[in-house]
Amino acid sequence: MPSYATDTILAQGAGQEHDPTGAIVSPIHLATTFLRPVEGDPSTEWSYSRYGYPGLEQPEATLKTLEGAADCRLFSSGMSAMTAVIMALRPGDHCLFPIDMYHGLRTWLHAHSNHWGMRIDHVDMTDPDKVRAAMIPGVTRLVWLETPSNPHWHVYDIASLAGIAHRAGAKLVVDNTVATPILTQPISLGADIVVHSATKYLNGHSDVLAGAALTAADDDFWKRVALNRDYHGGILNQFQAFMLLRGMRTLHLRIARSCESAMALANALQGHPGLREVFYPGLPTHPGHALAARQMAGGFGGMLSIVVAGGEGEAKRILTRTRLWKPATSLGGVESLIERRGAVEGPCSHVDPGLLRLSVGIEATADLIDDLLAALSPAN
Ligand code: PLP
Repeated sequence: MPSYATDTILAQGAGQEHDPTGAIVSPIHLATTFLRPVEGDPSTEWSYSRYGYPGLEQPEATLKTLEGAADCRLFSSGMSAMTAVIMALRPGDHCLFPIDMYHGLRTWLHAHSNHWGMRIDHVDMTDPDKVRAAMIPGVTRLVWLETPSNPHWHVYDIASLAGIAHRAGAKLVVDNTVATPILTQPISLGADIVVHSATKYLNGHSDVLAGAALTAADDDFWKRVALNRDYHGGILNQFQAFMLLRGMRTLHLRIARSCESAMALANALQGHPGLREVFYPGLPTHPGHALAARQMAGGFGGMLSIVVAGGEGEAKRILTRTRLWKPATSLGGVESLIERRGAVEGPCSHVDPGLLRLSVGIEATADLIDDLLAALSPAN
């Protein structure tokens, strides 16, 4: 089979299943069980839908090709995929996580690691020396990062951190939700496992909850991850798998537009008298800019955060004044969203109470900039 460009693979949804009707779009098979006429026949592909079903192959194959992975498993949510990876670890294992990371995973992680007898440390992963110093050779089994990281959009050096993890006998896991394989392919840089909240950019329409885990090697660790999905029942359901593939077919176009608008928005916001900070890796003033320019191909992502000079009260006021920007959590949809991150993370949040997180959609760039500038204006 010829090797096609990413855009072609996505537009065609990694090709089509063999459908006897000739339908150009694969059908949804809702069956939970499949005929097994000859007992024990290994050529019978599907048996029971908790392990797999026909409509799962196309979205899994599409994502596997995009990430350059050896295998892919789709899950019922990003959290389901991520917890399946962490639950493949053993009691006594030590893991490193960043300080800046998705708060939902952090909350679960601390409860689980106490209960499971795992040791967790958070380190500033923008400094590889700090990661090196925190490794316990033979005990640290996993280094986990998301890049750009939520909600300050720090950029972490995947190749350098993969080297540090591997030298100590640990695996590197990358949450690639925000960059997506359009901008970064962590496995090509040395990551062992890639995870996604496919709820975000991969689907892109704020109407599917899904997750993914992918591996560079089909090894024992991966077999435990896959087994966790099979037996915990974390598999993505048939309708959501259909919707996810449909969403993924325009991923490249949506990402290109979001990156372009996010860059224009960051430039329009930088230096605004009503703001203390603009966090966006595309800005030359961002500490991770040079690394992002090397590691991310084709753009700096569609996520940015601003810190309002007037603090929490003023940030709340802005949320009531935007018209196009919808005040809601989540990210990566076609519609632009704005949220006060501290309110979403709750009382344990370390995020500045005046920080607003922006998920840039695919509306006209000028409309998005005008709407936000109008909401920031003290005259309004
Ligand atoms: N990772 C990141 C970076 C996220 O933003 C989220 C959700 O917001 C998750 C993981 C969890 O994914 P899900 O909500 O699909 O379970």
